[in-house]
Amino acid sequence: MNAIQSPSNLRFSSVYGPVKSWRYGKSLGIDPIGIVSTCSFDCVYCQLGKIQNQTNQRQIFVPTKDIICDLQEMTNWEDIDVVTLSGSGEPTLALNLAEILTVVRQIAKRPTIVLTNSTLLGDYTVRGALQLADIVAVKLDAVSPNQLKRINQPITAVDLLDIVTGIEQFRQEYQGHLAIQTMVLSRWKPEILATYIQLLELLQPDEVQLNTPSRPRVLVRQLDARGNNITPSSSYVCQNLRCVSLDILSKLAQQIHTATQIPVRYPALN
Ligand code: SF4
Repeated sequence: MNAIQSPSNLRFSSVYGPVKSWRYGKSLGIDPIGIVSTCSFDCVYCQLGKIQNQTNQRQIFVPTKDIICDLQEMTNWEDIDVVTLSGSGEPTLALNLAEILTVVRQIAKRPTIVLTNSTLLGDYTVRGALQLADIVAVKLDAVSPNQLKRINQPITAVDLLDIVTGIEQFRQEYQGHLAIQTMVLSRWKPEILATYIQLLELLQPDEVQLNTPSRPRVLVRQLDARGNNITPSSSYVCQNLRCVSLDILSKLAQQIHTATQIPVRYPALN
């Protein structure tokens, strides 16, 4: 069991949003992680701020019955296109992931999406649970161990080869729509692009989603941040992240698509 406990005076709902997603429309968020942000990564761009509990140990953070109650309180289903498991950290750390996806499908009757950082895909029970999702977006920000350390700051047990092998295994088993999501923090050198293209040829996702940080990042954990709604006018202490331009992103997307024929999407930045 984890030693970090949720402060009892905070009202936590496992359901939030809807969040306007450039990828999926109006998305209802399900947070299987809870008050304490928990992840095997501590990405330099993470919208949650510095991760409070860095681990790769799976456990039940939010009981499934609480998620059922929060979903049953929902009244504005007409505003929801999809339901996304993401929230306050890495959703595959939730030991009740399969149970959550099952009840979400039953109650929401909407396509279900899981956004994962890919670090637990070597675990067959995680891959099995993810079979229940209609769309799985797996993170692949780095093509070298150094880049992984610099961008994703993983716990020491995580390495790039395991991540790539996990995605490869999952691709072989998964019948749903598999997206690879990649955060672009700077202009890529030709050798990075070449390695990335080789990895895509190996992993054969249904699509690639390129993104770049476009919003301020809170420095200290705020529950609000899970809904992607931190703006320059928010009262929290924030850090503005350097991001690449729309022009760079669109050229990169074109190069990747030309080389692999895999559809590549990226947001319309303003
Ligand atoms: S994987 Fe996601 S939740 Fe985890 S640190 Fe990175 S951005 Fe944050």
